[in-house]
Amino acid sequence: MKSANRRCKQCRKKVPAESAFVTQLRAFCSFECLQQFTKSDQGRKTIAKSSRAETRERKEKLKTRSDYMKEAQTAFNAYVRARDKDDACISCGNYVLDDQIGGGWDCGHYRSVGSAPHLRFHLHGANKQCVKCNRFLSGNVAEYRKGLIKKIGIEKVEALEAMNAVESMRFNEEYLIRLKKIFTKKKQKVLQSRS
Ligand SMILES: [Zn+2]
Ligand SMILES: [Zn+2]
Repeated sequence: MKSANRRCKQCRKKVPAESAFVTQLRAFCSFECLQQFTKSDQGRKTIAKSSRAETRERKEKLKTRSDYMKEAQTAFNAYVRARDKDDACISCGNYVLDDQIGGGWDCGHYRSVGSAPHLRFHLHGANKQCVKCNRFLSGNVAEYRKGLIKKIGIEKVEALEAMNAVESMRFNEEYLIRLKKIFTKKKQKVLQSRS
């Protein structure tokens, strides 16, 4: 069997694995080399990089379910805006919006996330909506309904209206993490197919 050698990160000398100093996947032939490495420019950079990775990891561990929820919702909403990029506002039918108050686009939920949180990730009930309708006209719901019927048909709209929360539909962390990934990918795909 070939004996496992490690190469010293500092002096490049080969050392038998069992006598090497190993820290975070890097090997050193001696404590002196390890010290020299940590003082060198490259060493400092490497250490800074791995401590950044550790910070990221720590932050990830501190995330709560509500953080994952926010991230998943942001990814979902961004996908809906990308999917409907060429559409008019679902409620008022406007395409071009100026920069006055109420300009810009949102992902508007037909049934608000506050009152129907179980539909927060339902694609039928989420559509591109102008900021004016979404935020200043409380969703402009009556007009939203008309626009939605035109877009997906009355059956689907009524199904959405009849959909009640189910206890088992509580989104868990793994699910939220998966949703974020899925909608981030879906958004990239939609945007790529247009460019
Ligand atoms: Zn060495
Ligand atoms: Zn509008």
